[in-house]
Amino acid sequence: MTANYIRFWGVRGSYPAPFATHLRTGGNTSCMEVRAGEHVLICDAGTGIIPLGHALIEQPWIQEAMVLLTHYHWDHISGLPFFEPAFTRGWRVKFFGPGQNQAEIEERIAEQMKAPYFPVETEKWLAEIEYLEASEGCLRYGPISIERFHVHHPGSTYGYRIRVGNRTIVYASDNELAFINRFIEQRKAEFDEPEQRLLEAMKEDERLRSIEFMRHVDILIHDSQYTPIDYEKKRGWGHSCYVDTVEAAMDADVGQLFLFHLDPAYPDDRIDLLHRHALTLIKARRHRLVCKVAREGYCIDLDSDF
Ligand SMILES: [Zn+2]
Ligand SMILES: [Zn+2]
Repeated sequence: MTANYIRFWGVRGSYPAPFATHLRTGGNTSCMEVRAGEHVLICDAGTGIIPLGHALIEQPWIQEAMVLLTHYHWDHISGLPFFEPAFTRGWRVKFFGPGQNQAEIEERIAEQMKAPYFPVETEKWLAEIEYLEASEGCLRYGPISIERFHVHHPGSTYGYRIRVGNRTIVYASDNELAFINRFIEQRKAEFDEPEQRLLEAMKEDERLRSIEFMRHVDILIHDSQYTPIDYEKKRGWGHSCYVDTVEAAMDADVGQLFLFHLDPAYPDDRIDLLHRHALTLIKARRHRLVCKVAREGYCIDLDSDF
């Protein structure tokens, strides 16, 4: 295995989906490992962090990790009470996520392990735990640099722009790309022509703003939860339709897109269908975007040529 890679440990949104019909894609909720040599950066702590924790314990030369949380919805933290390194003496775990200060980050992480929801509290963690200061702008972890940005999702939610060597990666697990644009589109008929022109300009402005964070990145891991039909039923829930994600990635001239935070209700054959449709959208625009489904266990070699 190369020294620098990304591995998906959980690719589902909302809730775990350990069903026989879902195994090719995987059933764990959001968790991604970014490895830069001996440095382990973990994006989100959904149930995917549980097998990752076991795998890390099998590598005794690794005794430290940094965990970045996009937000504190269950599908992004529910693996933490079973994250073996946190219960292992000699280990060191650094946490970062939305919050005004270190105490707030700590409180949000600890809350789910309090009675009556869980039998042991974070006080039982044997690792050295550090909560990182929220005021810091750009974080560094060994050779990895990390910037955060706000995304469109209920509550305060971050996306992360991560740099490893000369590769730029954006991780935006939960983000509703089209919320404002769809809203304008639906209300347009209520306005006269000059107002409609203004709305069109607002739409374009919003579209450009919504893709700024992903412009020209090598690898984009982005919310692609719904089909267009399901999106119409769940507009405002904070997730994207994969069509909007694919179009935005092309507009932003992304190198590789991984469809992530997949709906747990979709079995593998449904995921295959939406992927095939995504590829036809790219072909129709004659774009060079590479688009893959983020599947559990899939590894992206950051040292190979793209
Ligand atoms: Zn989520
Ligand atoms: Zn969420």
